[in-house]
This record gives sequence, structure tokens and C-alpha cells, in this order.
Amino acid sequence: MTNRREHIASSLAEVESKIGAAVKASHRSRESVVLIAVTKTYPASDVEILRDLGVTDFGENRDSEGSEKSSLVQGRWHFQGQLQSNKIASITGWADVIHSLDTSKHVDRLDKSVPEGKKLSVFLQVGLDQSPGRGGIEPSELLGLADQVEVCEHLELMGLMAVAPLGENPESAFARLAVIHTSFLAHHPQATALSAGMSGDFEIAIAYGATHIRVGSSILGSRISPL
Ligand SMILES: *Cc1c(COP(=O)(O)O)cnc(C)c1O
Repeated sequence: MTNRREHIASSLAEVESKIGAAVKASHRSRESVVLIAVTKTYPASDVEILRDLGVTDFGENRDSEGSEKSSLVQGRWHFQGQLQSNKIASITGWADVIHSLDTSKHVDRLDKSVPEGKKLSVFLQVGLDQSPGRGGIEPSELLGLADQVEVCEHLELMGLMAVAPLGENPESAFARLAVIHTSFLAHHPQATALSAGMSGDFEIAIAYGATHIRVGSSILGSRISPL
């Protein structure tokens, strides 16, 4: 266990130093970027280690895993997996932030299932990919979805989220995302957050304005199952 702790501490320090260099290069502050440690497939004991090392934000792709680990370790819990209608009521019970809303058909259920007294932070996932099936709404449909979220009592529109498409250089993908976000902000000026960047590309994402980066394998090691 000591070994595991040392391993995680050293990879976290490495990620932190890269974040530090990236924000500096962009004349931004460290506080302008939230590091979400993506703990999917890893045990709650790893999440505890991360929390002891000062990490406050954790991300999961599956309801069952997120529900279990969030009951064991306190923190701000993010859901970035694909939303399924039959899981929404459970997800809103443990998640504080949803990164993956990409269809108007989930909005109503999402809003209605938020527990009393809680406000759920929501990112709209944009598809930067032409090929369907990888998640994300068409940029042309973003404003309609945002309008729908804005009138919901229990949802707070944070901003946009995207994943750089496979086979495209992340630099050009995040450059496009930045343009989409800028024009989105003209209509929703409070939706300033931008969730972009994973282990392979978070430094580039920071250069293009990411405020939330979702980093898993660089901190915890490569996953066996490709979730
Ligand atoms: C798994 C996942 C991540 C983290 O990916 P790593 O490459 O392990 O950093 C980030 N975002 C989403 C949407 C994911 O599914």
C-alpha cells in the first residue's frame, strides 16, 4: 500500500508540474484550472490516497462505480460517461457535476431527479467529430439545448465539454472548440467553464482555455478495460 501511495504521489506531482507549466505559458493562474482525477476502474482506496494528497475532484463514467466510491470518499464528484435514461435518477443522487449532457431528451428527467435543495452543475458535451456515436451534440444544436437547461430550476449551466476526436491532432480540435465556446458565450455569458483535456492532451487543452481537465491514466496508471 505504501508503494501505491508513493506511486500515485509521484505521478500526481508530475501532472501538477505539467499543469503549472501550461498555465504559466498561457499567463493563467493555477486556480483557473480544476484537476479532476478520473478514478474509473480504480478502487476506492486509490481515491482515498488522492484525497489525502489534496485532490478534491473525482470523475467517473459509470453510475455503479461512482455511487459506490462517492459514498466512501468525500469530494466533488463528476460524471463524464454516457447518460442513460434509466441511470439518471441514481447519478443525480451522487454526482455534483455532469459533463456529458448531449441531448434535449435527458434534460427534463435530469432536472426532476435532482434531490431537493441541491443544484446540479451541467456541462454540454459538444461533438467535435463528424462520425456519430462517440457522444456530443452537433455545435449547431448547442444553443437550443442550453436554452432548455437554463430554464431548469435544479440545473446550473457551467459551459461546454469535449473530447478530442481520435485521429485528429488535439491542437486543431481544441482550437475549434475554443471558437465554438466563444460564440456560445455571446449567448450564455455565464457559461464560462470549458471541460477539455485528458492524460494525452491536457496541456494543449489548457492553452486553448480549458478550465476543467479530466485526467485518469497519467495519475493512476493505464486501465486494463478501455472504458
Ligand atoms: C476516461 C476518460 C477520461 C480520462 O482519460 P485518461 O486518458 O485516462 O486521462 C477523461 N474524459 C472522459 C470522457 C473519459 O471517458
